[in-house]
Amino acid sequence: MELAYRDITYCKNVGAKRADILRSELGVRTAMDMLRQVPYKYIDRSRFYRIAELDDEDTYVQIIGTVTEWHTIGIGKAQRLSATFNDGTHQCELVWFQGVKYVKLQRGIKYLLFGKPSRFQHIYNFVHPELTPWDKVTPEMTQGLEPYYNTTDKMKRVGLNSKAMRSIIAELLPDLKMGVPDTIGADILQQYRLMSLTDALINVHFPKDTAAMQNARARLKFEELFFVQLQILRQMKRREQNPGFQMPLVGSRFHALYKSLPFDLTNAQKRVIHEIHDDLKSGKQMNRLLQGDVGSGKTLVALLCCLLAVDNSYQTCIMAPTEILANQHYETLKTFLAPLGDAVHVALLTGSTTAKNRVPIHNGLMNGTIHILIGTHALLEDAVQWQNLGLVIIDEQHRFGVAQRAKLWTKSRSGSGPEQAMQVVAPHILVMTATPIPRTLAMTVYGDLHVSIIDELPPGRKPIQTIHYPLNRRAQVYSFIRTQIQAGRQIYVVFPLIKENEKLDLRDLENGFNELCEAFPEYKISMVHGQMKATDKDLQMQRFASGETQILVATTVIEVGVNVPNATVMMIQNAERFGLSQLHQLRGRVGRGGDQSYCILLTDSEISSDTRKRMDIMVATNDGFRIAEADLQLRGPGDLEGTLQSGTPFDLHIANLATDGQLVALARQAAMDILDKDPLLEDERNRMYKRQLDLLRAEKPLWGDIS
Ligand code: ADP
Ligand code: MG
Repeated sequence: MELAYRDITYCKNVGAKRADILRSELGVRTAMDMLRQVPYKYIDRSRFYRIAELDDEDTYVQIIGTVTEWHTIGIGKAQRLSATFNDGTHQCELVWFQGVKYVKLQRGIKYLLFGKPSRFQHIYNFVHPELTPWDKVTPEMTQGLEPYYNTTDKMKRVGLNSKAMRSIIAELLPDLKMGVPDTIGADILQQYRLMSLTDALINVHFPKDTAAMQNARARLKFEELFFVQLQILRQMKRREQNPGFQMPLVGSRFHALYKSLPFDLTNAQKRVIHEIHDDLKSGKQMNRLLQGDVGSGKTLVALLCCLLAVDNSYQTCIMAPTEILANQHYETLKTFLAPLGDAVHVALLTGSTTAKNRVPIHNGLMNGTIHILIGTHALLEDAVQWQNLGLVIIDEQHRFGVAQRAKLWTKSRSGSGPEQAMQVVAPHILVMTATPIPRTLAMTVYGDLHVSIIDELPPGRKPIQTIHYPLNRRAQVYSFIRTQIQAGRQIYVVFPLIKENEKLDLRDLENGFNELCEAFPEYKISMVHGQMKATDKDLQMQRFASGETQILVATTVIEVGVNVPNATVMMIQNAERFGLSQLHQLRGRVGRGGDQSYCILLTDSEISSDTRKRMDIMVATNDGFRIAEADLQLRGPGDLEGTLQSGTPFDLHIANLATDGQLVALARQAAMDILDKDPLLEDERNRMYKRQLDLLRAEKPLWGDIS
């Protein structure tokens, strides 16, 4: 029977009990599922080490030598056996704590030692090593790479350790060698020089050498990424067919705002507005991602796009991930729109909008008198109904997943049932990211969107100088700060937030505040933090913005949106507690005027090598994309799990978005080539892809629903 249909229960070395565990722990139901369990590492059994060349990095090694001496220590359960192993040049120690009486040692014969060395002072020792008399060593034992499989406690309880996994898989090998149907067409395999599925599965479990193992893994990674891209791009192709509201007019409000600006738009801003306007007038629904570094002027672009829609008689909304951000967008937009009088009506709706204040907002949305609504998730509530919502702008920051985007999508169907929904035109969607996203991640998490990039900062900005100091050089930092204030500039001082304990956070912040008051008795200092009342917070922010106070002490609430061009120093306390993109966001609060600005990163004097790397990157570059790349490399995509889980249509088991960037690009190209010719996968030869997507989608239903 084909491996894909063979129940794992009836495979050799399995049986009902183990089959249950394999199903519940790994989702393995068939022989093929089992073959899809990819080893997480390999140990090279063809390599023999000398004791002299061991180093502390080695995991498993094998050494040929003799046992020269041994003795037992202690009695009964506490008994242990210690032996000296000599490879002719050096010696190491072997130790057994358990099953001591079963260990039979012989002097004068050659042994193969296999195990994991650890060093104690100058001697390496092996705890519970495998020790095989040389005349019992079979050629297979020292042939090539030995695969190791992930297991869980539950699996181990029924004897399913890595070795057992290996033997179950080994039993399937003869059938596998007869060949399994491939999931990728021969043309693609040839074009990208990929192994067949059969060869890949053989070599991923029992590679003949490292090159074969790597090729096998590359093929399996490509396959995963290929189907991810095929799904994402198919959705994009399908959406490209969605009808969209026509917004051809560049009207009076747009022109009025444009003329009122005290500066010119950058070329990059002009270009992305053109790209967006092309979408808005195309008659097709826009699904676009707007990327740009901190301070590149995304908010203004968003506002101008809203006005394009409003001038064409459509309503718009901007959805922000936090209330603070929503408030700040609201304030910023009102400031920009002030010269236009009441030609544009903007409203704010967040979780803290009172029931009473919601009534006029709901009415204004229904009767069309509100043009732009800014808010948080509150925008998604069922009570929010629109007269003619034409453009949705989502300010993301990695926080909204696909699920929420999907909700907005249904929302735009005016809350009607799914049947009528198909006739209703969906609004245009523009997703803005506050942090640049590495390319490979963008291709996956936002792979279904067209991309516009603002790759230019407004003119006259001097690159921010970043300096990393240990906390004990605070005095020096303070004297630098003093010279800046004397020159008329203002200072941000940011304290980290430890979410688990708000009281402690507050104490840290208050201590810091008091210390600064003592250090700078001649200046005025404001303080803001998350637990203040909104009105107090506004007041303090206002005092700083107007120049009444010289220093603003804050938690990360100022991370987003705050704009005080006269501030030239961003001092970050305990910078080691912040992630790279957060540090970059914070740094973006200065350097907004014409004066040279500085970012001072204060850390403990003892820092981990990871922290050191993060600080070095911050010092080395102001480029948000480079920082985002470095962040992904350092943290790995694991930290972005939430984003990735909701952001990829299928879970990745073997490919890694942080390290397999090149494969992502190739897989996307391959998928694109197919869909360009056959967007709906209707050709006979593409049927297999469609079937495979259906199978995969059945495992992750959310994405199935959206498309
Ligand atoms: P982002 O949201 O991309 O981080 P902002 O929209 O907050 O950036 O813009 C940063 C600052 O630059 C704001 O004060 C904004 O008014 C200003 N700004 C935007 N576009 C320009 C421009 N073309 N020239 C000068 N200043 C600009
Ligand atoms: Mg912004």
